[in-house]
Amino acid sequence: MQEQKKLFYTETYGCQMNLNDSERLAGQLRTIGYEETENVDKADLILINTCCVRESAEKKIHGRIGEMKRRKLINPNIIIGVVGCMAQKDKDKIMKKFPHVNLVMGTHNTHQLVELIAKVEQSREPVLAVWDQAERLAPDVPTVRKGQISAWVPIMYGCNNFCTYCIVPYVRGRERSRPLDDIVAEIRQLGIDGFKEITLLGQNVNSYGKDSELQTDFADLLQAIDQIDTIARIRYMTSHPRDMNDKVIDTIKNSKKICEHFHLPVQSGNNDILERMNRGYTTEYYRQLVDKIRQAIPNASLTTDLIVGFPGENEEHVIETLEFIKTIRYDAAYTFLYSQRSGTPAAKYPDQVSLPEKKARLNQLMAIQNEISLQINKQLVGSSVEVLVEGPSKNDENKLMGRTRTNKIVLWEKTGTEIIGGLVNIQIDTAQTWVLKGRLI
Ligand code: SAM
Ligand code: SF4
Repeated sequence: MQEQKKLFYTETYGCQMNLNDSERLAGQLRTIGYEETENVDKADLILINTCCVRESAEKKIHGRIGEMKRRKLINPNIIIGVVGCMAQKDKDKIMKKFPHVNLVMGTHNTHQLVELIAKVEQSREPVLAVWDQAERLAPDVPTVRKGQISAWVPIMYGCNNFCTYCIVPYVRGRERSRPLDDIVAEIRQLGIDGFKEITLLGQNVNSYGKDSELQTDFADLLQAIDQIDTIARIRYMTSHPRDMNDKVIDTIKNSKKICEHFHLPVQSGNNDILERMNRGYTTEYYRQLVDKIRQAIPNASLTTDLIVGFPGENEEHVIETLEFIKTIRYDAAYTFLYSQRSGTPAAKYPDQVSLPEKKARLNQLMAIQNEISLQINKQLVGSSVEVLVEGPSKNDENKLMGRTRTNKIVLWEKTGTEIIGGLVNIQIDTAQTWVLKGRLI
């Protein structure tokens, strides 16, 4: 009789880095005979890959881990693992609060999944694997990619910036850049495997290479990847405005493949707040940087992250931030309510802003930004844009979805001539805040 395959299910919270980590978890599990299932009820192994950047994510994850107890009662053989950033931060709390969890694995132990699962299978005792510090570079592990067209490629791990609100440096460790040759080799292989677009990942990609003696920087890396014929588009995230420089801007200007989309998280439009956030730039510097980018690459799109309700933020600071976004005119902004993260300096700052106040400020900000995004998108109506075909639209199988080089989502009626992973030209007919709609030309 054929042995039944073991099935695993992953639930991933947070950023692209976490999604990419889940692909590496899947790659390791495949080597020991596990197959992925989308149906949690069928899983022999459930991995919750966690985020702790904001309290809202943490609360949701706690709820989900709690729910897993019921599954364990129905099937005591099921293995439940909590991995990633929250596991790194709260290992003891998780072990204590959720005795039904079999494995708690931190961010620096991701490559050990196979041996840790073997340990759980043998002992059936809870296994804890959370190193305080990362190895310089963890060994490579196999990856099973979710997509077939676009792939994430980490170029560095960790962060040295210590923005005062942010938990990331504490749970991801210091900056460690991967060697340029390893990254290029991985991307060459992705090209051979049919991937067309890659997104380079790092908390601060512009400081790539600064932690090593190799004398290579982010622009050198972009130039090397630009030479790989099979790849059509190169993206990267996230840039720290302080570390974006002329060499990178020139490299993007002179490249055909690096997409002209700049995601430059500003966080606030007020200099006092920026200083207390430890962001390392002023609004004047940021404006000059944007001017430089727009002069060099006039059709570039610009997006940002903004936090409202940072401790000590008052109405005047908010007005300044609103004025700032009105004058910069971002294509889009990801807006967040400040979330107090214990262990970070800002969590202890006086004058924490109340939740209703934060929400009111967020609504104000979003209303203005949404209007700007809509106005900018409307300017594209009647024009033709180059789109990489990603696949069917989630909500309508007769429509296809893709992105412009400037990272705008485009939907259009499928004609049957499109190839997934191909580049097409779409005539834009209508524009909304987050999406453009058109037809194939
Ligand atoms: N490294 C990137 C950078 O510097 O912009 C992004 C990393 S962070 C996970 C993504 C965004 O989450 C940040 O840009 C910031 O706006 C937001 N964020 C981080 N910590 C936060 C907090 N405590 N409360 C609210 N938003 C936060
Ligand atoms: Fe967090 Fe700042 Fe590092 Fe981004 S740069 S991960 S916001 S500490």
